[in-house]
Amino acid sequence: AKVLVNDQLIERTEAVIDIEDRGYQFGDGVYEVIRIYDGMAFTADEHLDRFFHSAEKIKMEMPFDKQQMLQFIEQLIKENNLQDGSIYMQVTRGATARNHLFPGKDIKPVLTAYTKEVARPEEKLENGVKAMVTEDIRWLRCDIKSLNLLPNVLAKQEAKEQDCYEAILHRNGTVTEGSSSNAYIIKDGKIITHPATNLILNGITRQVILQLCQANQIPVAEEEFHLDDLKTADEIFVSSTTSEVMPIVQLDGQSIGDGKPGPLTKKLQSLFLEKIEEVKTQ
Ligand code: PLP
Repeated sequence: AKVLVNDQLIERTEAVIDIEDRGYQFGDGVYEVIRIYDGMAFTADEHLDRFFHSAEKIKMEMPFDKQQMLQFIEQLIKENNLQDGSIYMQVTRGATARNHLFPGKDIKPVLTAYTKEVARPEEKLENGVKAMVTEDIRWLRCDIKSLNLLPNVLAKQEAKEQDCYEAILHRNGTVTEGSSSNAYIIKDGKIITHPATNLILNGITRQVILQLCQANQIPVAEEEFHLDDLKTADEIFVSSTTSEVMPIVQLDGQSIGDGKPGPLTKKLQSLFLEKIEEVKTQ
């Protein structure tokens, strides 16, 4: 398969990353994951905007502009004949002798990107998945999609060891988001999700869901909610680029509702599917 290293599309086996790349040594960089449906990049504009914002927030200058990045995405899809999958893109602050301080202007950021075939998780979307709750031990800039994912890795592993798909995180009892997703509860017909503050990543899927709710008169609020609200919710779901609208049917071993995906979650899933179809036919 072909991968991107800066502006070069090369064979994956030919790609070389310096052992003193700052992404490798400090996690000093940002990334994005973009979903490809039928060879079409879904919400690529929004992902690239967030990518540039993440870079800006860590005071890193992107090595290419948005138009060039869009071209790279198109090239990767075409070269690898990608139909259904994802593109991972990251930019690090470059490679130079290890030093916490930012490198000088002569050191250029390093862009890498590659594609992966991924099927939609249809069985899980249909039947729902289990989740567990764990403490959010991350830093206070979770709005940045940074390469530093150790707390997320630990939480996801904890979930896996309890036979769960996702770990839902809380800070002092306030539910923030999932280890790699945004989290939502539904109570009395209203969808609630944590506001887009520094404590969560403002998911692109989250933004699509909020728009779909607004366009379809589905009550939705960006408000804090707590562990008690989570436990007593009528429905729970999480969202992400690869998980889409994923129903949570069990939380810490307790069934949510009747233990099946709820009606409003299913409604959102069908609206989301329509949105995907729209993009495919563009
Ligand atoms: N929150 C976290 C911590 C994530 O890692 C992700 C995605 O991987 C999300 C939320 C969902 O974001 P998006 O919908 O843009 O994929």
